[in-house]
Amino acid sequence: MSLTVEKIFVRNLLMDCLFCKIASKEIPSEIISEDEKFVVFKDINPKAPIHFLIIPKIHLGPISALGAEDKEIISGLILKAKEVAKKMDISESGYRLIFNIGRDAGMEVDHLHLHLLAGKPLKFEF
Ligand code: AMP
Ligand code: ZN
Repeated sequence: MSLTVEKIFVRNLLMDCLFCKIASKEIPSEIISEDEKFVVFKDINPKAPIHFLIIPKIHLGPISALGAEDKEIISGLILKAKEVAKKMDISESGYRLIFNIGRDAGMEVDHLHLHLLAGKPLKFEF
């Protein structure tokens, strides 16, 4: 599917979705970078010194709702995270990428998003 600005606008208008509203700037956020397909912004409740969210501009559900037709956007999110990490100069020191999926993972927002966390040694405990 080609992601024209018009298609994204019309599709997202139909959604009552926080991240669609962030992507369309209806709700303000601290945007780190943006291109035709993705927006990267600061998480409002950071869990690490660097905590960004990477989202597609078009509304897609979580990983569990996606299929092979979405593989370009899924891989695009990960490559965007890599690009941002390089720009932030954290490729060497390291970073963590997280998809929260469903209740047990504490997923709050039903719009595909990838967390990028960095800036200190990150614990891995549950
Ligand atoms: P998840 O738990 O994976 O669904 O993550 C949703 C994330 O969105 C949480 O880490 C929230 O802190 C973050 N969040 C919620 N509202 C906003 C907002 N208005 N701007 C930026 N981040 C937000
Ligand atoms: Zn959305």
